[in-house]
Amino acid sequence: MKEFDLIETFFKHKGYQRRDVQIGIGDDAAVLSVPAGQSLVVTTDTLLSGVHFPVNTPGRAVANKAVSVNLSDLAAMGAEPAWLSLSLSMPEIDKEWLNGFSLGLQELTEYYSVQLIGGDTVKGPLSVTITAQGFVPENQALTRGGAKPGDWIYVTGNLGDGGLALDMLQGRMDVAPRHKNYLSNRLNCPTPRVLAGTMLRRVASACIDISDGLVQDLRHILNASQVSATIQVDQLPLSQAMQESVVNDQAIRYALTAGDDYELLFTVSEEQKSHLQHVLSTTSEGFTCIGQIIGGQGKLELRRGKEKVHYDVLGFQHFRD
Ligand SMILES: [Mg+2]
Repeated sequence: MKEFDLIETFFKHKGYQRRDVQIGIGDDAAVLSVPAGQSLVVTTDTLLSGVHFPVNTPGRAVANKAVSVNLSDLAAMGAEPAWLSLSLSMPEIDKEWLNGFSLGLQELTEYYSVQLIGGDTVKGPLSVTITAQGFVPENQALTRGGAKPGDWIYVTGNLGDGGLALDMLQGRMDVAPRHKNYLSNRLNCPTPRVLAGTMLRRVASACIDISDGLVQDLRHILNASQVSATIQVDQLPLSQAMQESVVNDQAIRYALTAGDDYELLFTVSEEQKSHLQHVLSTTSEGFTCIGQIIGGQGKLELRRGKEKVHYDVLGFQHFRD
């Protein structure tokens, strides 16, 4: 099967079709309409087998994760997702894997109303690169740079599940059978907080998605905004699976450092706090205040109540020796 057939067979005419796609898959390039008054937001992420997902992960789960991590980056900018393109490298044509991958893509594109507008396949080690594009009204994109002293720090969802799930799947942690399904899904099928991201426009002062761990990603906000922060470790939101699987100190360590959560981390001024409660109460996405921005240059203090506490907080880094 040649590259042309592969794209025709597995990807063309699959999934959601949008009216703003003038020309999609099948020509030399896609032709798209950006709505007036909107800025185009573009992000790209590569998932490499054995690094970003375990070898032998089914195609459907890989598609789910590859799309989700890109949509999570758009959500962190407050953007509404619109289009995806795909570059797929695989060692040989594995029809069963491709069928699953194609199904996963179709499910996600339908769920989020995004369209696959182009694809490329090459022979090589298994890796998936997706480029996602979306819209945000002009001058309303959320960035890492707007946090001010006094702002409150929030996260969506629960923290640390992705890290616990990875340790569970790789045999380093024993978890009760009733939590296994929830945890695997949190790792393989993270939920990009697309709706929350769009609702945080004009409410959040800064925003990022947590891909490398709370501490590491919060540092990006602190550096870009030139501020410091305190985090209350006993306020960190923990899932029931987390609370019932490890002791509290270890749960906090997961919540602070584990990658792959894909929750949004954002800051909100005192004046916008009640507005935040209002806009996010209209969605099912939970959110928790975990600390506060203070003056200073990029320092992070962990506290339990008023007492300072210390945890080893090196976040997840790809390709770490
Ligand atoms: Mg990101």
